[in-house]
Amino acid sequence: MKPIAKSSKLDNVCYDIRGPVLDKAKQMEDEGHKIIRLNIGNVAAFGLEPPDEIVQDMIRNLPTQVAAGYTDSKGLFAPRKAVVHYTQEKRIQGVTVDDVYLGNGASELITMSMNALLNAGDEILVPAPDYPLWTASVALSGGTPVHYLCDEGAEWYPDLDDIRRKITPNTRGIVIINPNNPTGALYSDALLKDLVEIARQHGLIIFADEIYDKTLYDGNTHTSIASLAGDVLCLTFNGLSKNYRSCGYRAGWMVVSGDKRQARSYIEGLNMLASMRLCANTPGQLAIQTALGGYQSIKDLVAPGGRLARQRDLAYNLLTQIPGVSVVKPKGALYMFPRLDPKMYPITDDQQFAYELLAEEKLLIVQGTGFNWPNPDHFRLVFLPNSDDLTEAVGRIDRFLAHYRKR
Ligand code: PLP
Repeated sequence: MKPIAKSSKLDNVCYDIRGPVLDKAKQMEDEGHKIIRLNIGNVAAFGLEPPDEIVQDMIRNLPTQVAAGYTDSKGLFAPRKAVVHYTQEKRIQGVTVDDVYLGNGASELITMSMNALLNAGDEILVPAPDYPLWTASVALSGGTPVHYLCDEGAEWYPDLDDIRRKITPNTRGIVIINPNNPTGALYSDALLKDLVEIARQHGLIIFADEIYDKTLYDGNTHTSIASLAGDVLCLTFNGLSKNYRSCGYRAGWMVVSGDKRQARSYIEGLNMLASMRLCANTPGQLAIQTALGGYQSIKDLVAPGGRLARQRDLAYNLLTQIPGVSVVKPKGALYMFPRLDPKMYPITDDQQFAYELLAEEKLLIVQGTGFNWPNPDHFRLVFLPNSDDLTEAVGRIDRFLAHYRKR
């Protein structure tokens, strides 16, 4: 039989968070090695349990007919209504139940939003660094991801001039990840207004990934860009995975806001794709209203002295003590994106760096280029492990980097 090749649609699709270095880590685990995994934001794996009321809700709902059946393609009414209330709390204007789509995690809806829009040659502005599902979804949908730079010297804020330079007649939209994965940046209202203005001037759709909007440190608050966007078409993505530590329940939502009249055909496309996958898993849908209406226990974890806040501080303090390592302290989310001074650490292939760190120190991180960062001088660290494991992990990074310092 002829070798069976993957589709050429996948030629430019890359998702390194679960890429070849992870395969190597799994192989090493099979051989009996214990690996510290700092590679993915799988919150539950680090003992951060979902709120009990969500778990109880799942248990109670599972045997019912509602949970066992298909639902409307966009989702059940009550959780979509709960999302509408949430958009009101976040001051997003004019959202009705009809504008809310529930999905098997935000991931499914992100891919759907690109598939329903893009033709060959269409461009989408995506941040560098990004959460790589965005770049991958644009490429899989036949579009071209065009990366705009975020500026490490300016709190990892998007470089507005770079965005302006990269807009062409083919640009259809701009992706804004706030709070940001992998940098932990949280954008100011002034910056969000500037981004809206650029989108308005050039007729771009805003794709706002706000899945970490409650995972905020130092008393910071989050503004949804859609609340500032007026008539600009915005698709806002969120879900239970992070703020409610329920990634396995695969519950997410997408909200369409702004001037929807100009987007009738696109919305038809979204509805078609939502119908083709029938509906999101129903127990996950049911959990959404309980989560949004319940006690927001994430507050306890991110408050000063809370587990996530302590771990962020610890990882930041330990990393910045290593010569040649600098980090912008995250204001939100679960990650940091440290820089390795290229003079001290002349890394030319950061995937190779990740392999060697894994082989030598049994530690799994994701290399910066996996987040579409253009240079091999960063990596992403997940600060979910408890303080002892984090201390051990950063100690291993320091020991590994010491080889370069001795050269
Ligand atoms: N958006 C960002 C920025 C993420 O970091 C993630 C997961 O890590 C997702 C979306 C996907 O979330 P979900 O579990 O809802 O599919």
